[in-house]
Amino acid sequence: MFSKVLIANRGEIALRIIRACRELGIRTVAVFSEVDRDSLHVRFADEAICIGQAPSSSSYLNIPAIISAAEIADVEAIHPGYGFLAENPHFAEICESCKITFIGPTPENMRLMGDKMTARSMMHKAGLPIVPGSTSIIRSKEEALKTAKSIGYPVIIKAAAGGGGKGMRVCHNDLTLISSLMTAQAEADANFGNPDVYIEKYIEKTRHIEIQILADKYGHMIHLGERDCSIQRRHQKLLEESPSVAINNKLRRRIGEMALRGSKSVNYVSAGTIEFLLDENNNFYFMEMNTRIQVEHPVTEMVSGVDLIKSQIRIASGERIRLHQDDIQLRGSSIECRINAEDFQNNFMPSPGKIESLILPGGPGIRVDTHIYPGYEISPYYDSLVAKLISYANTRDEAIKVMQRGLSEFHIAPIKTTIPFHLRLMEHPLFLKGEVSTHFVQEMLKEKGGEE
Ligand code: ADP
Repeated sequence: MFSKVLIANRGEIALRIIRACRELGIRTVAVFSEVDRDSLHVRFADEAICIGQAPSSSSYLNIPAIISAAEIADVEAIHPGYGFLAENPHFAEICESCKITFIGPTPENMRLMGDKMTARSMMHKAGLPIVPGSTSIIRSKEEALKTAKSIGYPVIIKAAAGGGGKGMRVCHNDLTLISSLMTAQAEADANFGNPDVYIEKYIEKTRHIEIQILADKYGHMIHLGERDCSIQRRHQKLLEESPSVAINNKLRRRIGEMALRGSKSVNYVSAGTIEFLLDENNNFYFMEMNTRIQVEHPVTEMVSGVDLIKSQIRIASGERIRLHQDDIQLRGSSIECRINAEDFQNNFMPSPGKIESLILPGGPGIRVDTHIYPGYEISPYYDSLVAKLISYANTRDEAIKVMQRGLSEFHIAPIKTTIPFHLRLMEHPLFLKGEVSTHFVQEMLKEKGGEE
């Protein structure tokens, strides 16, 4: 096992990793930007090193500064968290060449799955059902029209290097397809430094179902069931739960086997997530693989009893996964609400600023993963996630009750958050019945004359 690990991240995930390390008896080194000097990850780590100015490009994405910090602190490994450098194969290679273990998949895994087109064709070859769509990058209007004609409208244009719900456009006819193509390419270039786009059939009335897998360096792999992430706004997740009401044991076994088959085909190592779309007739289609720990990993931890961050660290240090698929028994129900510093009443506008007063929820069945405290200044430089409120109970109905209680106890002022959104969601009859699709939030917001 490692004796010292550097955490190349900030916010709640940096704290989550520090906590896992502490329980494993590993010393921790935090890195921080100038505006994060007073952050909890800096306070909780054994050592902390400033790596640059506030913009991510100068700090959390600054590879030379992070590698120098790792060398100065003499760490054996780096945990990248999610976002920033977590899915950057180049960074993982540099770590390797400096004899520092990257806690995550191999650079090859990241490279193959990081390009969504390559991932689609690899998974197709491995026998996974994929969403009908283009088999190569779309370079011209003619190619786009031809693909749309062969699969039928609606279609979705997606960035090959995409992520975070950005750069996607749904098109319902030739006219919108042509006008969206160029904007999608420009957006992809601006956001991901790569203008490549491809086209897929847009599946309406769909659920986002993802399977968590764990794989060691010796080819042993297990899956830890699914997360239902259908509660999204503008393709970005707002709430996740495990298990999904839409998945029975038989379907879980089938999708789980597919996820493992896909991961084995690329010799995957570490924690990873295979995302699928599930249609109304229980057909599922591979969408993409995320080669990192996900924001929503806690719901899987709650129902499986497996600590995913510790598992990543153990796997990276060369330990074997001792669990077998039959050992994984999912128990109870868990929900995660993303509490973002966004004004729900005002079209989810960012609401950065200083937290003057704060009361965190607690009690049975509540877990709060957060880095905020009274007096903490939410910086406009980074993402708006301020806390993850996770509930756990024997049944979904009870987990919803626990979540309602937790949300009503949660007090943050004066910044605005998504708590009122989640409270409204927790009372919605369709959400209570579990009858949701990825369109649900848009429809719910329309009901009261809201946005969209
Ligand atoms: P990102 O990597 O940016 O998160 P994903 O490929 O994971 O992008 O897609 C994000 C969301 O966009 C999905 O959860 C789903 O709601 C929607 N989506 C993506 N592809 C399709 C599709 N072919 N049909 C319907 N919805 C889709």
